[in-house]
Amino acid sequence: MKFIIFGPPGSGKGTYASRICPRLEIAHIATGDIFRGIVKGEEDSPLALGIQSFMSKGALVPDDLVILLLKQELEKPGAKNGFVLDGFPRTVEQARILEEITPIDAVLSIKIPQEILIAKISARRTCRECGNIYNIADIQREIDGVQYNLPPMLPKIEGKCDKCGGELIQRADDVVEIVKNRLETYENQSRPVLDYYKGKIPFVEIYVTQDSDTVSEQILKDLKEVGFANGQESVSA
Ligand code: AMP
Repeated sequence: MKFIIFGPPGSGKGTYASRICPRLEIAHIATGDIFRGIVKGEEDSPLALGIQSFMSKGALVPDDLVILLLKQELEKPGAKNGFVLDGFPRTVEQARILEEITPIDAVLSIKIPQEILIAKISARRTCRECGNIYNIADIQREIDGVQYNLPPMLPKIEGKCDKCGGELIQRADDVVEIVKNRLETYENQSRPVLDYYKGKIPFVEIYVTQDSDTVSEQILKDLKEVGFANGQESVSA
């Protein structure tokens, strides 16, 4: 099973991928997490400073570097059973290059109104140590006749990660000014990726109207319906 989870920044790609990957026994490969890991681990190295200069503006890191790091991840044993790509491809050019590296079985496409997105992203909190994601917003809203009930995703102890006890922070690129740039980058460079895949491979659409556990269960159900089940591709009856 080789999937792409696709959606605007802050739509929940990382949250859903981190919930469904263990259930499907496949790897979660998040290019943003890889970059954050390099920046944190190497701090003042030229590579880390270079990556940081793009991320801090909400701009994309150059393709050569992204592809190099992605190939390394795909070669790891954990990815042999399959993977979800989170944050890649982010341009049509990256999608073309990916096609030369590996086939993809389906695109998991996240649908979320801009209004909900902005409320969600500025309330996101991330563990400084392990990257686990939380959200302090309690979103209860009706938009175009659709009810959105997105309760907060709070840690058991305020400000501390449930998984590792690390400090919860607001990512530097989750502040309003940078979020605006990231959304613009998404509209101009990333959204066309959806058109690139339309008609080529199956799409599973994810509607973010409820809490993340319910949405994650729905994704697993939808994947099963289109022929993918736990641990391996199911044989269609
Ligand atoms: P994310 O965690 O997916 O929101 O990514 C955070 C930042 O990492 C983005 O704003 C980009 O600066 C960089 N980044 C992540 N994935 C890619 C990619 N596929 N291509 C270029 N830059 C990326």
